[in-house]
Amino acid sequence: MDLKSLIRDIPDFPKPGILFRDITTLLRNPEGLRYTIDTLTQKCKEVGLAADYVVGMESRGFIFGPPLAYHLNAGFIPVRKPGKLPAAVHTVEYELEYGFDQLEVHQDAIHPGSRVLIVDDLIATGGTAGATAKLLQQIGCELVGFAFIIELRDLGGRQQLPDVPVVTLIEY
Ligand code: IMP
Repeated sequence: MDLKSLIRDIPDFPKPGILFRDITTLLRNPEGLRYTIDTLTQKCKEVGLAADYVVGMESRGFIFGPPLAYHLNAGFIPVRKPGKLPAAVHTVEYELEYGFDQLEVHQDAIHPGSRVLIVDDLIATGGTAGATAKLLQQIGCELVGFAFIIELRDLGGRQQLPDVPVVTLIEY
């Protein structure tokens, strides 16, 4: 299936000069959605990604994470922007183009030795996925890999990630 044809390009969003890859057009297509989840699952299995938990980042990691976790017989754990999770959290700070941001995970959601797979819709610079990996590794989790629907190759995000398998479906 030509997944790229289901992704909509929006110029100058959210800022001038940025070409935003919009996955909402893929999500609303029944065959496209099924193919995306099935293929992501299959590719994760092919490279032997067995995990106790799939970890997804706010907010589009929440869309693809749970169905992937379901198919891999894993649980799903959300990683959120600051102040959103109700119980005690672990926090990681990471650098943006201008300034810093933070990501949080519930302290009691995850334990040393848990095997975790990180999933998001898209990897650009790798900042978000890299920070999530750091957060989980600080807790002592075993990071087994990453899964993304889209990889923007020119931005070199992969190089920011620890040396574990990275599964992607579409490259630009
Ligand atoms: P990175 O941290 O630079 O790798 O950016 C990846 C994060 O930004 C992910 O959480 C994506 O959801 C979001 N993101 C960046 N660019 C796009 C885009 O073109 N479409 C959808 N999400 C994007």
